[in-house]
Amino acid sequence: MASLPSVAVNGNLKLDQEFRKHPTSFLPSERSTNVSYQKSHTVTTLNGSSEPKSLDFREALSMIREGENVESTYYVPVLQECIDKNSASEAKIVHAHIVKTGTHQDLFVSTFLVNVYAKCGNMENARKVFNNLPKRNVISWTSLMTGYVHSSQPEVAIHVFQEMLEAGAYPTNYTLGIVLNACSSLQSVYLGKQLHAYSIKYQIDFDTSIGNSLCSLYSKCGTLESAVKAFKKTEEKSVISWTAAISACGDNGEAVRGLKFFTEMLSEGIEPNEYTLTSVLSLCCLMLSLDVGTQLHSLSIKLGYELNLPIRNSIMYLYLKCGLINEARELFNGIGAISLVTWNAMIAGHAQIMDLAEDNLSAYQSGTEALNLFLKLNRSGLKPDLFTFSSILTICSSLVALQQGEQIHAQTIKSGFLSDRVVGTALVNMYNKCGSIEKASKAFVEMSTRTLISWTTMIAGFAQHGKTQQALQLFEDMRIAGVRPNQVTFVSVLSACSQAGMVNEALGFFEMMKKDYRIKPVLDHFACLIDMYMRLGRLEEAFALVKKMDPAPNEFIWSILVAGCRSHGNFELGFYAAEKLLELKPKDTETYVLLLNMYLSAGRWKDVSKVRKMMKEEKLGKLRDWSWISIKDKVFSFKPNDKSHPYSVDTHKFVESLIDQVKSLGYESLESLEVIDEDEEQTLSYTAYHSERLAIAFGLLNTPNAAPIRVVKSLIMCRDCHNFVKFLSTLTGREIVIRDSKRLHKFVNGTCSCGDFGGHL
Ligand SMILES: [Zn+2]
Ligand SMILES: [Zn+2]
Repeated sequence: MASLPSVAVNGNLKLDQEFRKHPTSFLPSERSTNVSYQKSHTVTTLNGSSEPKSLDFREALSMIREGENVESTYYVPVLQECIDKNSASEAKIVHAHIVKTGTHQDLFVSTFLVNVYAKCGNMENARKVFNNLPKRNVISWTSLMTGYVHSSQPEVAIHVFQEMLEAGAYPTNYTLGIVLNACSSLQSVYLGKQLHAYSIKYQIDFDTSIGNSLCSLYSKCGTLESAVKAFKKTEEKSVISWTAAISACGDNGEAVRGLKFFTEMLSEGIEPNEYTLTSVLSLCCLMLSLDVGTQLHSLSIKLGYELNLPIRNSIMYLYLKCGLINEARELFNGIGAISLVTWNAMIAGHAQIMDLAEDNLSAYQSGTEALNLFLKLNRSGLKPDLFTFSSILTICSSLVALQQGEQIHAQTIKSGFLSDRVVGTALVNMYNKCGSIEKASKAFVEMSTRTLISWTTMIAGFAQHGKTQQALQLFEDMRIAGVRPNQVTFVSVLSACSQAGMVNEALGFFEMMKKDYRIKPVLDHFACLIDMYMRLGRLEEAFALVKKMDPAPNEFIWSILVAGCRSHGNFELGFYAAEKLLELKPKDTETYVLLLNMYLSAGRWKDVSKVRKMMKEEKLGKLRDWSWISIKDKVFSFKPNDKSHPYSVDTHKFVESLIDQVKSLGYESLESLEVIDEDEEQTLSYTAYHSERLAIAFGLLNTPNAAPIRVVKSLIMCRDCHNFVKFLSTLTGREIVIRDSKRLHKFVNGTCSCGDFGGHL
């Protein structure tokens, strides 16, 4: 971004004298004219008592006779009408008329015309009229810039600003506010700071609109302290200023601070508006603070916002986030005509609940509820938008509901949303998570523009499916395309190398990340490297890395070490890692089961009871083994030994026959060591009916012969099931995809994409 030209540094900020003559509201004055359109067009602003009527502007235009000396103000109401209707096509008709009557030489009319085109988003014509202006002034310059900012061309707006300064015109505080908005769309803190310095030089930095723009600029660029400073400096803090400060805190994750501003604002006697209330409600979402949320709900009713949709949506969203599904639904049902925003809030809320759900049953229920909502939305006749599509695709990913995902894909093509980068990325992600790497890469190739996130998502997909070469090739392509990889991209690249055991390459990329891209390694990067050494059986190197790594290893890394040592039968190192893991007092039930299994395999009964005791002390929930499979429009769920389904008898019998059949291929069931539930220890230590086996069997019975089977499981797969499914994929010739709580397993012809090293229970 270029610097401000030196001309900007001198001169005053007064409005062009000539323009002082015309009121900025551009409303016709009451001075009498003999043009009759003023009778048909009632100006409600001037005469509040009269009924507003629509002006037939063609008729009005015909009243302005050509060839006579037409007063410029005659055009004002028709032009204002174009703005109100947001109609560039009508503006063109008026424009043609203006040219015919020769009024385009009038500075006032043609400047107004720039404003009309800019407001209607026709920037091409706005610029054309601007170029032909007999004289340019701060109002025409500012109208043009405002238009570019509103039609998402902030870089052009800044360019116009530079032209303006070079032409020797001086900005007003309003102009500076607009340019600052352009900077914040571009997140250009550098140029923003120059404008800030400029406003300080002319002592207008305390101006309200400049202060507000500076506050949101700094907030967007992630410098909350500067945002707060700009806010504090503002002399007359309006409700917009307070709202800007509050949402700045929210955007930068400082919810408590934002709430403080809100109470301060109330104590100053400033009444919050709709935007303030929704900003504060989103702070409550950040803090999951239902208390404050309920108070805000009553405050908003008191202030007369009971029926205000954005506020109701925010409250509903908060209820959903805090798990109050019934309260949320009550609000939802109470809204008469449900707008798309409300549907979106409801669907996104269910996606949130899925993420936060404590057990997989409620996650699964929220997911299916969201799918139902989406069906209802389609039936309601409203058209989903990109927010709807991206949240519903996320839900399909979590449920591994590939068929629904494919239907939504078709719908995005029909409705033209496929070209949207967010939707495109959500699709790639959905196909990846559903285990369909071919469709994911097809969706990726079809994207017209790619973002860092879409590249990274696709690289992660290849890595998860064990397709290391493709992952690394795509990483190269991404760099050639000039996209700068981030932390997450490197996690995918390293995990691709780790699966393929490519030690030198992995270390090379690790160095590249630190040196070339100056990205500080985080735990996930180390986890990939450690996983790689463990897979290769190079345990000493793994432990050496753990000793010197910064940040210090966490629960996840010690679990990799424990699982790896157990797989390689090195109990000595395993016990050491287990001790370290226990020191961290893990909060995850699966981690304890992993430890129990290791001590059980080593026959260390003393440690077994120690771990059991710790599990009780930590008051950990039981492991809940759930799997679900989605067939056509329905999602079916399975618990181990679940006999409650109408279809469970057949499914159980089929699992037994499958076990018999794979035995002939060489499958031997492993002695299971896992202790899932002490009360039901007897039945559950038997792996035959682990939930994924039932889900797969159900899928085999209810899908066409060659169809792939896709299952989600709530826990890590156990070794026995992993082995069983490998044989099953050979036996049936089907592709079987299982996404467990840690990773994706794609079984084809007796092998799994995880390379048999998924840290099984
Ligand atoms: Zn199992
Ligand atoms: Zn696997």
